[in-house]
Amino acid sequence: MAPRSDKLLRVLILGGTADANRLAAAVAAEPHIDTVLSFAGRTETPKLPPIPSRIGGFGGAAGLMDYLRAERIDRVVDATHPFAAQMSRNAVEACVATGVPLLALERAPWQPRSGDRWIEVDDLPAAAIALGGAPRRVFLGIGRQNLDLFADYQQHSYLVRLVDPPRGPLPLSQVEVVVARGPFDRTADRALLAAHRTEIVVAKNAGGDAAVAKIEAARDLGLPVVMVRRPSIPPRRTVPSVADVMDWLVHDSTPTERGV
Ligand code: NAP
Repeated sequence: MAPRSDKLLRVLILGGTADANRLAAAVAAEPHIDTVLSFAGRTETPKLPPIPSRIGGFGGAAGLMDYLRAERIDRVVDATHPFAAQMSRNAVEACVATGVPLLALERAPWQPRSGDRWIEVDDLPAAAIALGGAPRRVFLGIGRQNLDLFADYQQHSYLVRLVDPPRGPLPLSQVEVVVARGPFDRTADRALLAAHRTEIVVAKNAGGDAAVAKIEAARDLGLPVVMVRRPSIPPRRTVPSVADVMDWLVHDSTPTERGV
């Protein structure tokens, strides 16, 4: 399939997710699309895609505007994690300012199902409070960046799952670390939670398949889940699947729509 122009369509994908990697594989097969996949640089060994990539922040919305202009980007796809709100806000601002069309690849949030015992909260500080005052055995499936938010709640014992081994001490006194990269498996997560005698799980409502195993495992074991709702992001066009993004790139776009 070719877009409606012989010119290359220059696309910036904001990545850091399994969906972004799947999209990268799909665009790699399209000779008319010239793509750069951007990583923040949080993961030490990111899974590198079969397309050009760059690593590191742009320098806020203004830096992203400069990048879009300098690299003559025709389209931006925001395929970041639903909790990467700052990057997504910057993308909206920069794309509005430069006139570069933006599409977000956004998975639907998980919904509670029969047997789920969710305590929904608005953010991670509220999740830490929701654990309560009494000591509990907590599975923290939230990544490395926000562990310090739990540092004031040292009465709990934490099991933390990280993509990379920690470089230094974590801000939690009673903590065990499991180093593993998704996608995760329901049976294995059930065994992990049971082996650590986990009493409560903290999760961000990421949606999608890669990280849902811990939610299913908690349901299987009858454990409560403190589920953090997604942060708000300014209105933007969103689609739920890689196929929808490809449709937009291949059939619904031309390089002349840049508008700068
Ligand atoms: P964030 O808070 O929204 O972003 C903070 C800053 O990091 C941004 O302002 C930007 O710096 C830079 N940044 C973020 N994503 C970038 C990207 N794809 N390419 C280039 N720069 C990027 O993001 P975050 O929550 O720290 O997440 C960082 C990365 O990890 C994202 O790629 C995200 O998809 C991935 N991730 C996040 C989570 C999560 O729970 N937050 C989970 C899994 C994966 P400048 O302002 O300098 O441009």
